[in-house]
Amino acid sequence: MHQTKNRFQKLPDYRYEQLRKGMFCGECGCLFSIIDHLDLVCRNCGKHEKSESAILRHTEEFKLLFPERKITTSGIHEWCNIDLAKRTISRTLKKNYRLVGSTSNTYFI
Ligand SMILES: [Zn+2]
Repeated sequence: MHQTKNRFQKLPDYRYEQLRKGMFCGECGCLFSIIDHLDLVCRNCGKHEKSESAILRHTEEFKLLFPERKITTSGIHEWCNIDLAKRTISRTLKKNYRLVGSTSNTYFI
């Protein structure tokens, strides 16, 4: 059988740069606001979510959308585009993923 996978390499037709960055409510898809540094709230439907759970949800989404991109603290910080400390993101990633790579080029798997 011939391999025809190249035919579909143009799909899906979104690019990282085009997608809206931010943390979105899992219920209604509106942008979350931070009410204190560890709690997020949706101003539309009132849903609360802990930052750790929201970070994980957005990291999984990032993995799904961009399997070729490495997961880094800076990358997820940019993807979430919200006023969370990088160390909060870093702590969450460390807790839930495995850190690999050399010191100058680390990422999570
Ligand atoms: Zn909502």
